[in-house]
Amino acid sequence: MILGAGIGGASLAHALLQRAPRLKLALLEAESRPGYHTTGRSAAFYAETYGGPGVQPLSSASKAFLQRPPAGFCETPILSPRGALHICRAGQTLEALEAEFRQGGIACEHLHGEDILRKAPRLRAQWAEAAIWEPGCSDIDVAGLHQSYLRSARRAGADLVTDARAAAVAQRGDWRILTPAGEFRAGALVNAAGAWADEVAALAGVAPIGIEPLRRTILVAEVQPEAPTGLPLVIDSGGSLYFKPDAGRLWISPHDETPDVPRDVQPEEMDVAVALDRFERMCDWPVRRILSSWAGLRSFAPDRLPVLGPDPEAPGFHWCAGQGGWGIQTAPAASAGAAAMLLGEAPPAAYAGIDAAPYLPARFR
Ligand SMILES: Cc1cc2nc3c(=O)[nH]c(=O)nc-3n(C[C@H](O)[C@H](O)[C@H](O)COP(=O)(O)OP(=O)(O)OC[C@H]3O[C@@H](n4cnc5c(N)ncnc54)[C@H](O)[C@@H]3O)c2cc1C
Repeated sequence: MILGAGIGGASLAHALLQRAPRLKLALLEAESRPGYHTTGRSAAFYAETYGGPGVQPLSSASKAFLQRPPAGFCETPILSPRGALHICRAGQTLEALEAEFRQGGIACEHLHGEDILRKAPRLRAQWAEAAIWEPGCSDIDVAGLHQSYLRSARRAGADLVTDARAAAVAQRGDWRILTPAGEFRAGALVNAAGAWADEVAALAGVAPIGIEPLRRTILVAEVQPEAPTGLPLVIDSGGSLYFKPDAGRLWISPHDETPDVPRDVQPEEMDVAVALDRFERMCDWPVRRILSSWAGLRSFAPDRLPVLGPDPEAPGFHWCAGQGGWGIQTAPAASAGAAAMLLGEAPPAAYAGIDAAPYLPARFR
C-alpha cells in the first residue's frame, strides 16, 4: 500500500509491479487528482548536478530511462533538450560550480561576453562576464511522465484510489488505513506523502524524520519581445533566480526556500515582487504583465537527501520521501532502488553502483 500518488508514489508503484507483477498494490491519494501538489507545480527541468553531489547519482542513473523509456511506456518523448546557462554577477566566481561539474563528469563549457549574450541576449552586462554552459540540461514532460507511471501501474493491476486521505493508520498484524473512501489493509505501507510525510509517519505511530516543506514560487511573465524558443534555462549560480521560456513567455522563479507547513500552498505577493525585481536587475527585458503564478512545497530531510527504504524502527513501514527539488528527475532510479528494498531483492541495473546508505531512513535512527 502506497500513501501518496505524486511522482514518488506513482514511480514506485510502476517499479514494484515491473519487478513483482503478481503483487497486490493500492495507491491511496488524498486529492481527487494525483499530481495536484508538488508534482504538478515543478519547473520541469532535468539538470544532472542539481541538488549537489549527494543527489547526482540518482539523477545520472535516471537519465537513460528518461531519454529512452521502455517500449509502450509513453507516447511522446519525456526529455527535450534545452541547455542551461549558469551565470554569476560580476565579481563572483563559478569555480565551486565548475569543480562540481568536473567531479560529476558532467559536460560543460566556460563562456564569456559575446558567447553568453548569444545564448541569453537580454542579460545585463554585469551578468554576462562569465558563465558555464551545460548542454545536457533538458525540459521534462512532467505530466507525461507522471501519467505514464500511473497508467503503467494500473495496467499491471494497481488500484489507484483518489479522495482517500489516510486519516488514521494502525498496525494490528496488518496495517489498517482509514480514509473517506473506506478502510484498507496491507502488509507493508509506503509513505510517499510528499510534504505530509512526517504527518503520515506520526499517524502511523512512527517517529518523524524532520522532513521540512520549503515553499518555492514560479511566475509566468509576458515579456517584450517574446522569449525565443531556443533560450536556455538561465540560472544564477548564486541562487537568486532562474528563468526559462515557455511558448513565448518566461517562467521565472526567485529560487525561494521559505519554511512552510503541509498545505495547498499559494504564491505570496512578496515572492512574486522579489522575482520581478531580481529579473529586472538581471535582464534588460520589459515584463508586460504577470499572466499567472504558483507555489509548491519542496520537502527536505535535514541533510537534503531523499529518504528511501525501510524504517528500521517500524517493521513494514517504508519511506519514499524527501525528494526536495529534484524528485522528478531522480524518480526512475529512486523508485527502482526503493522497489528492490521493499521486495528484499538485489538492486536493479538502474540503481547498480549507487550506494543506498546515504538515502536510508536508518541514517536518522
Ligand atoms: C516550484 C518547484 C519547482 C520544481 N522544479 C523541479 C524540477 O525542475 N525538476 C525536478 O526534478 N523536481 C522539481 N521540483 C521538485 C519535485 O516537484 C518534487 O521533488 C516532487 O514532485 C515530489 O513528489 P512527491 O510525490 O514526493 O510529492 P507530491 O507530488 O506532493 O505527492 C505527494 C502526494 O501525497 C498525497 N498525500 C498527502 N497526505 C496524504 C495522506 N494522508 N493520504 C494519502 N495521500 C496523501 C498528496 O495529496 C500528494 O498528492 C520542483 C518543485 C517545486 C515546488
